[in-house]
Amino acid sequence: MRFAIIADIHANLEALQAVLEDIREQKCTHYACLGDVVGYNANPKECLDIIRQMNIPVVKGNHDEYCSTDDPLDGFNPAAAAAVAWTRKQLSEDDRQWLRDLKYQRLVNGFTIVHATLDAPQRWGYVFDKLAAAASFTYQNTPVCFFGHTHVPVAFMRDTVVRGGTYSKFKIEAGKKYFINVGAVGQPRDNNPKAAYVIYDLDESTIELRRVEYDVAKAQKKIRDAGLPERLAERLALGR
Ligand code: ZN
Repeated sequence: MRFAIIADIHANLEALQAVLEDIREQKCTHYACLGDVVGYNANPKECLDIIRQMNIPVVKGNHDEYCSTDDPLDGFNPAAAAAVAWTRKQLSEDDRQWLRDLKYQRLVNGFTIVHATLDAPQRWGYVFDKLAAAASFTYQNTPVCFFGHTHVPVAFMRDTVVRGGTYSKFKIEAGKKYFINVGAVGQPRDNNPKAAYVIYDLDESTIELRRVEYDVAKAQKKIRDAGLPERLAERLALGR
């Protein structure tokens, strides 16, 4: 069984299509999605249609939540608020209901998926360091949990202490717990503009981070044509 774990698609259709093609080439058999299907980029409807049709386990991200309610956007940075307001208008009521119905965390084939943290999944905290990872580990009941939200691929491991760092491929060892950020499909923020996702091979017990090139210029043009903030286009080429 080979799972493709995808997160933070953020309405980037070019990145999603490139990642799905790589997933097929890599002969994955199953999928899980860690949320933030929509928000920021220019194809929320198209990306949501694809994910809905795939009929795979999906958890709710903060942008999925913001874009599926009519809550006021006080306290948001202006670019994010503009993207949320625009995205709300692109989605049908049925799409918004589908997003509202997503769960915050799920158990999939013996591993856990969550968008932000396990200690308070609805509060959208950011796990960048060992201290924040340790808080999630306290609530982690499976050896492996995948998360997103920071758009920075990093893996934390707990045996007697918590360790963490960047990774490309590693083996899951028995008796340890792993809290793994799979990076972002649609808006990478680790200074690498390539789309990111992870292959979890349950037979080999391996985790592999994949980076996939896609047509950044096309995604940027759509953002500009939609009248979304210029900063959202610029950051795709920078990977931050
Ligand atoms: Zn996100």
